Amino acid sequence: MSSKGKMAAGGGIIAIVVILLQLFGGETGKQIAPVLDQITQSQTTQQYTQDRELTAEEREVGDFVATILADTEDVWHQVFQENNLGVYQEPKMILFTHAVETACGVGESAMGPFYCPADQNVYMDLVFFEELRTRFGAKEGDFAIAYVTAHEIGHHIQTLLGTSQKVRELQQRTNQVEANKLSVALELQADFYAGLWANRIQKYLIAEDIEVAISAASAVGDDAIQERFQGRVNPDKFTHGTSEQRVYWFTKGFKTGDIQQGDTFSKVLN
Ligand SMILES: [Zn+2]
Repeated sequence: MSSKGKMAAGGGIIAIVVILLQLFGGETGKQIAPVLDQITQSQTTQQYTQDRELTAEEREVGDFVATILADTEDVWHQVFQENNLGVYQEPKMILFTHAVETACGVGESAMGPFYCPADQNVYMDLVFFEELRTRFGAKEGDFAIAYVTAHEIGHHIQTLLGTSQKVRELQQRTNQVEANKLSVALELQADFYAGLWANRIQKYLIAEDIEVAISAASAVGDDAIQERFQGRVNPDKFTHGTSEQRVYWFTKGFKTGDIQQGDTFSKVLN
């Protein structure tokens, strides 16, 4: 990793490493699908690290994400303490474009941002964020980015609390349809945790921020995505929940601010 690629974040202690990997052969020309955090082993064999300075826009998005990360740390330290959950272990955030090598396999831009439980890093895709900004506008786009960041941190919380491990074990013992339901419950809980975070920082928010987060949550619902990319909706293939479910759980987290209210599993599985 080059020192050129490392970015000092405004927040001080935040460890941010920028990795700029590009698939061998340059642009893949792939469509960026707004599918959050799906990571699979990729067959990419040859990669090289591209050494370059961040563009002004990437730096701006990176600084913003670093601020959000610092906010999530304040909130989760507090929530863990209040609920006797031990000491909150902070995740590391890695910004990338195109592709990135992780303990969970190779992450590609087309997947959007994701969390890898094996290395406890949050991988943030700068291309995806630029797309969000284009879709929502720069100002509104920022809270959409904040929501996505808080959602990924939600997966980190699930890893620290052992929920993710339990779900993976259950998924290995069941059929695909049930495994997908478990995945939906896990994703909705990450949305709930994002809402909980928004509750704790609400004095810094305006009503529009929450509307943007809700509209982002709605835009990344499985039904919305399937409709957009496949032209039809197949509930058995849902892995993240419908737009309505995602909005419901984000809102519930935002309204209650109480980690005890986030049992998405009994609701989705019954
Ligand atoms: Zn997720």
